[in-house]
Amino acid sequence: MCRSSETPLDRIMSGFNELPGWLAEQPAGQLGEVIIKGREIIDRTEAMAAEATRRFEKAGGYKADGFLGMVPWLRVKGKLSGGAAAERVEVAHQLKELPRTEEALARGQIGYQHAVAMARTAEHLGAAQVRKAEVTLLKAAETMDPGQFVGVAKNFEHRVDAQAALAEANRAHERRYLRIGQPLDGLVRIDGLLDAEGGAIVRTALEPFAKPAKGDTRTPEQRLADGLVERCQAEIGPGHPDGAGPRPQLIIKASRDTLAGIGGAPAGEVEWGGTLPAETVRRLACDSAVTRITGLGELEQEVTHAGRSIPPATRRAMVARDHRCVFPGCDRPTPWCDGHHLVHWADGGPTKLENLGLVCRTHHRKVHEEGWKLRREKDGRWIATPPARTVTARIRSG
Ligand SMILES: [Zn+2]
Ligand SMILES: [Zn+2]
Repeated sequence: MCRSSETPLDRIMSGFNELPGWLAEQPAGQLGEVIIKGREIIDRTEAMAAEATRRFEKAGGYKADGFLGMVPWLRVKGKLSGGAAAERVEVAHQLKELPRTEEALARGQIGYQHAVAMARTAEHLGAAQVRKAEVTLLKAAETMDPGQFVGVAKNFEHRVDAQAALAEANRAHERRYLRIGQPLDGLVRIDGLLDAEGGAIVRTALEPFAKPAKGDTRTPEQRLADGLVERCQAEIGPGHPDGAGPRPQLIIKASRDTLAGIGGAPAGEVEWGGTLPAETVRRLACDSAVTRITGLGELEQEVTHAGRSIPPATRRAMVARDHRCVFPGCDRPTPWCDGHHLVHWADGGPTKLENLGLVCRTHHRKVHEEGWKLRREKDGRWIATPPARTVTARIRSG
């Protein structure tokens, strides 16, 4: 073949033809380098493909093949699932506004999944916001795996726009589900999705039950499965409802500003990974019986001391007064309920009966994350007001 008519892609392709023979001669111990190089080729190819996708789409090139859009074209011609094709096209659009990120991907300094996290952040906040911090974010991306980097990006989103971060967390919360299948071949399949908080709670509850015993031959997954069953067994069994066994406690790291709901504050950090919107941290701190809130860095002492649970006597008085969730129309019993501070303690509200109300976890979420207002009238009635413009007060006599 004439050298001048050969494109760079042709040269890469002919390299691939030589690969199998060359690979067979490589000592197994050195294949790590081969895998890393291979990953880099894939990532750098994604950068090239992103630029090509943009230009091809702008020129309407997909129409010549009879397609109505870039995503279906990429799905069929690029052999991708619908979701993967849509992601490529969206990332290509966002990277146009984030040239530094695209360049870092093209040079192999970051991976494709780092670029996806950057693109998603730009999608949520607008590319202009991300460009202001692009250099810092890319530096973080270069030293972290994509999973860790998503945490950094989410924290950045929270600092810039806590409202948008909360809306996104609420959307994620909507996707939660748990499916417990019918027994099949002696096995029951359980699968599901939980939000970051739910996942951390389940994990915290199961971990003490999933520790390996001496000479334990079970896999970590088997131990976790056994832990789930044992934990549930402890709940329904004749044993000790007050939990004589291990007492798990969920640990959240947060700053004073996050607890006070101040704009620009970082997100809360869950011990098991993942970030929580400020309002979720405020809810968990509202009744910290099952949650321990600790400070971030230099605020460690301050927050750890401020975090308080409701004293047993006050809790008993609250339970005696409210009996069940006070949200109008709700009758969930005490064990499913938290003590809610009408004025949050982080805002100076006292942990005293007149400032507390028993609410189930679903309704506690409503008054924090979903913006409902809950108040107690002088005559003891509880009134809940939804956040929308349609102000319909619902009344339950207490
Ligand atoms: Zn609360
Ligand atoms: Zn309720």
